[in-house]
Amino acid sequence: MGEFWDVIVVGGGPAGAAAALAARRAGAGRVLLLDRYDFPRDKACGDGIAAHALDVLAELGVRGAVDGYAPLPALRLVGPGGGTVARALPRPAYTVPRRVFDARLVAAATAAGAELRRHTVRTVEVCDDRVVLDGELAARAVVGADGAGSVLRRTLGHPVNPDRHLALAIRGYAPALPGPPEQLIVTSSPRWPAYAWSFPIGDGRANVGYGEVLRGEPLTRAHLLDRLAALHPGTDPAAVTDLRAHHLPLSTHRPAPGRGRVVLAGDALSLINPFTGEGIFYALRSGALAGAAAAGAPDRAASRYAHALRRRLGTHLRHSSVAAWLARRRWVVDAAVRAARRDERVYRTVVELGLGDGRLDARTLGMIGIGLASGDTPPRH
Ligand SMILES: Cc1cc2nc3c(=O)[nH]c(=O)nc-3n(C[C@H](O)[C@H](O)[C@H](O)COP(=O)(O)OP(=O)(O)OC[C@H]3O[C@@H](n4cnc5c(N)ncnc54)[C@H](O)[C@@H]3O)c2cc1C
Repeated sequence: MGEFWDVIVVGGGPAGAAAALAARRAGAGRVLLLDRYDFPRDKACGDGIAAHALDVLAELGVRGAVDGYAPLPALRLVGPGGGTVARALPRPAYTVPRRVFDARLVAAATAAGAELRRHTVRTVEVCDDRVVLDGELAARAVVGADGAGSVLRRTLGHPVNPDRHLALAIRGYAPALPGPPEQLIVTSSPRWPAYAWSFPIGDGRANVGYGEVLRGEPLTRAHLLDRLAALHPGTDPAAVTDLRAHHLPLSTHRPAPGRGRVVLAGDALSLINPFTGEGIFYALRSGALAGAAAAGAPDRAASRYAHALRRRLGTHLRHSSVAAWLARRRWVVDAAVRAARRDERVYRTVVELGLGDGRLDARTLGMIGIGLASGDTPPRH
């Protein structure tokens, strides 16, 4: 007979750390946080931390996650047709390498009483009164926060996202571009939907990368790097270090959030924004809800979690799926860029939809419509 825990969280990324913290805050006595790596560990990511992510951390009592990193006050977005909008962000973002950010969150979880252990989960057995991992670790409820290749998700019978709902991106570190600090996103007309980014860290370096949605053909590393170089001519490809690629399961295709005593959070639940590739806010939000449900009602964790998730993110996820469907036509995105340049409120709506839990509104749709009528005509090819 192995060990028995109240809650086991598989995966120590943002979703897992938030789940462990929330489980402890909801009264779970014994919380075990498992990861296949020791921390600090790297994770392929743009390292962009939106203000909304910090809101969730504050709710969980975590402060200081971005300490020592300069706020990024502005965002510059280049549309697929070349038009640009550059404005102050409603609230600043940060670029914090995941090696640092995730280690800070895991430290907060262990400070709150969770136990961290290096362990790679391979098998999951769901019994009436418990869930058993690898035949040795049992818990009343388990949170699967094990990322894009989730073992827990497979156990529940859900394959990875199909093409068009799955992206692949590569990131590296390069000397920051000259000019004032801002998040730079350059979307790409070829291979649409696709974009490159450059997020300055504040120490002279920037996180740079390129990603595109998969369409049934494999993407090579050389292709991703060619596209990165094409969209960021100011970045010397030879100066980019620590290159690393990873899949992004997009929120336009999500499995059920759990079953019985097993719940999924973050990338394991395909919670990545289809426009921006942002997943840290969703990971923290869903992880916090999953941990609380697992601690509060282990035998009904999945139904309680599904309800809480729907209440917090349901409308937003529906709106972002509709917006992603509209944005498949790149001239719609060009019209949105023009509208956001003309109108601060449209810009804010677009930012909230892409980085937080915002919704589409009539004003934004109307302004995009006007933009289309006044010159952003669909290309003929
Ligand atoms: C190139 C790229 C750029 C991105 N840029 C941004 C960005 O700028 N901003 C943003 O918000 N989001 C970005 N994202 C998305 C973001 O990285 C993810 O949404 C986020 O990491 C999800 O957090 P998570 O905790 O769900 O999963 P992860 O961060 O992937 O954590 C999962 C953890 O589970 C562990 N694990 C996996 N399998 C097992 C197992 N079997 N047993 C034990 N442990 C296991 C892993 O080691 C890992 O630590 C980007 C993604 C990519 C690929």
